[in-house]
Amino acid sequence: MGAETLKLPPTSTLERGTRAQGQFPAGVEPTSRRATLLHYFQAMTRQLGPMHWWPARTPFEVIVGAILTQNTAWANVERAIANLKQARLLSVAGLEGVPVRRLAKVVRPSGYFRQKAKKLKAFLKFLRQEYGGSLRKMFRTPTEQLREKLLAVHGIGPETADSILLYAGGHAVFVVDAYTKRILQRHGWVDEKAGYEEVRAPFEGSLPRDVQLWNEYHALLVNVGKNWCRTKEAKCDQCPLQPFLPAGSPGNFVRLNSRAEKRNDRAGDGKSSASLEMMNRG
Ligand code: SF4
Repeated sequence: MGAETLKLPPTSTLERGTRAQGQFPAGVEPTSRRATLLHYFQAMTRQLGPMHWWPARTPFEVIVGAILTQNTAWANVERAIANLKQARLLSVAGLEGVPVRRLAKVVRPSGYFRQKAKKLKAFLKFLRQEYGGSLRKMFRTPTEQLREKLLAVHGIGPETADSILLYAGGHAVFVVDAYTKRILQRHGWVDEKAGYEEVRAPFEGSLPRDVQLWNEYHALLVNVGKNWCRTKEAKCDQCPLQPFLPAGSPGNFVRLNSRAEKRNDRAGDGKSSASLEMMNRG
C-alpha cells in the first residue's frame, strides 16, 4: 500500500480539529488516531520516497542479520554476513554444521561474536526441533503463536522477533525501536517509561493490517529518527513530521530529558537497534 492509495481526510482539517481541542494526540478517538498515523506516513513518504527495506537476498539472511545487528552498527553486520557467504555458511545446513567456536570467528566483525554465535545456534536448534529446519513451515505458523515461540528462543527479543516476522516472514507485525519511541514520545503519544508493547500499540491498534504499509512505515520512522529526530539536536523545523508536533511543543529538542532517554539514545543513535543501524547505510 502506498501513500497515494490511502484515503485520508485533509491534513489541515485534522490538524485544526485536534490541535484546537487540545487533544492531540492524547485522548484522540481511534478513528482519528488511525487517520493521524496515516498522515504521518503520507508526510514521510512524500519527502523520503519508498524505503525498500530490508536489505537481504533471502528470508534466512534477514533472520541472520536481525540477530547479528543487535548492539552493533549495520556496517559490521554486512562484514559478518560477507564472511558467512564466503565460508558458504549462510544457510540452515551451513550454520547447523559449523562448530560454534568457528562460527564465532566468522561473525566476529559483528561484535559480541561469541554470544551471537550462540544465539544463531539457538535459533537453528529451535528451527530444527519445531519445524524440521524449514523456514517455510515456521512461517506458516499463525503470527501470534510464532511470535511467542520466537520470544522464547535464547537471544531473540521483541524487536528481533518482530523484524523476523515482518521482514523475513511477511507477517503483519509492527516493528518499533528506539527511534520510534523517541518520535512518539516527543509527539505526546507515549511517555518516556513506555515499554516496547506500549510503543507498538498505537500502530498495531490503529493502522490497517497491511504488511507492505507496516514494512514501509517502520523504515520511514527510522529514517526520520536518524536524519531529524536526534536526541541532542532534533531538527523539527526541517522534519517531515513537524506539522504534527502537538500544540505548545517546544520543537527542535536540544537536550536529553532524562536518564531513560539517554538509555534510548544509546540504543537509538549508537549501536543497538537493528533497523536504525541498517539505515546508517545511507
Ligand atoms: S524532529 Fe521534531 S518534528 Fe521530527 S519527529 Fe522529531 S520531534 Fe517530531
